[in-house]
Amino acid sequence: MTNKKNNLNTLCIHGANKHTEINEHVYPIFQSSTFLFKDVAEGAARFAGTDKGYKYTRLGNPNYDILAKRLTILEEGEFAHIYPTGMAAISTPLEHFLSANDHLIADNMLYGCTDSLLRNIISRFGIEISFIDLANEEEFKKNLKNNTKAIILETPTNPTMKEIDIQSISDIAHNFNEEIKVMVDNTFATPIYQRPIELGADISIHSCTKYINGHGDVVAGAAIFNKKISEKINHTQGDLGTTTSPFDCWLMLRGLKTLPLRMERHTENAKKITEFLKNHPQIDYVKYPGFSGMLCFELKKGVEAGKTLLNNVRLCGLAVSLGNVDTLIQHPASMTHAAVPKEHREKIGLTDGLVRLSVGIEDVDDIIEDLEQALRKI
Ligand SMILES: *Cc1c(COP(=O)(O)O)cnc(C)c1O
Repeated sequence: MTNKKNNLNTLCIHGANKHTEINEHVYPIFQSSTFLFKDVAEGAARFAGTDKGYKYTRLGNPNYDILAKRLTILEEGEFAHIYPTGMAAISTPLEHFLSANDHLIADNMLYGCTDSLLRNIISRFGIEISFIDLANEEEFKKNLKNNTKAIILETPTNPTMKEIDIQSISDIAHNFNEEIKVMVDNTFATPIYQRPIELGADISIHSCTKYINGHGDVVAGAAIFNKKISEKINHTQGDLGTTTSPFDCWLMLRGLKTLPLRMERHTENAKKITEFLKNHPQIDYVKYPGFSGMLCFELKKGVEAGKTLLNNVRLCGLAVSLGNVDTLIQHPASMTHAAVPKEHREKIGLTDGLVRLSVGIEDVDDIIEDLEQALRKI
């Protein structure tokens, strides 16, 4: 297991796997909200933490634990939390690390609900937020303050595919103050292509709804933490109640087994579709970072042409969400990023004509044929 890629293929299937005493092949679903104690002393010991056994599913469950451990291994972290949504994977650590009078630096291109969470909720708790372009290191250095507690960014960004250097942002932040928490939303790249903690970040975040589960049947999130972070955050998750059902954890463990295979095909297909779109007379430009299955493009004839394209696809599904086995297409300015103010959208290149494509693992010729017939309608 010396080759990193082969190692990940194995770890996605076997990492942290367990069996019960009957030795089933696939670990069962522990669909139980609570756990029986044999006596009062055992119950008390579990709440005191001297006995690590289970107490109550909001505070821990076997299916949750296997998934958390597998993601910890894949992202080379210290421990992980699984959350009911990607948004809870962002809001729970922010609520844990930030207090009134703290300062947060946020990249100016964030997922629509993340942007809205910061502007409309976190900002109400006496936390100052600077929205800046974290691809510009000089601007970043100028914005660091003595009360800066956390940095939040996505790379590649949803949907404009901007890339930010995690290593350099983490180095600058930690040289300034090693307590600053660098939080990276790793949803688009997945641990197959990018491991933020290895690059110096403190927290790697996923909307597991996307590639981690990969099959469009779960909404969930995860955060993987590095060793500098205290497990006191377990209490924050328990108190906020942002935990996940055993069945959803089980589904994610199943989805995760094929993550490396899926990512390989997503990438292969997205490369071919990028070539097709780049050479198509209706397309102005395409942005694709060269890995994973996400790309965005703009049509020469603008918003109306985009609507015609979206209204005429047959194989590609017109829906938000991404990272599923099937291809999905959507219009960020009116859908996923509708909550981002228009002036701000224009400043960051999220134009009204931008179309986002989450390339699936179907036969690529079928996807291209579908896009081609819809583009002919323009
Ligand atoms: C979808 C998404 C989220 C939010 O995740 P949910 O599971 O929908 O709550 C956060 N960040 C990125 C980059 C996303 O694509």
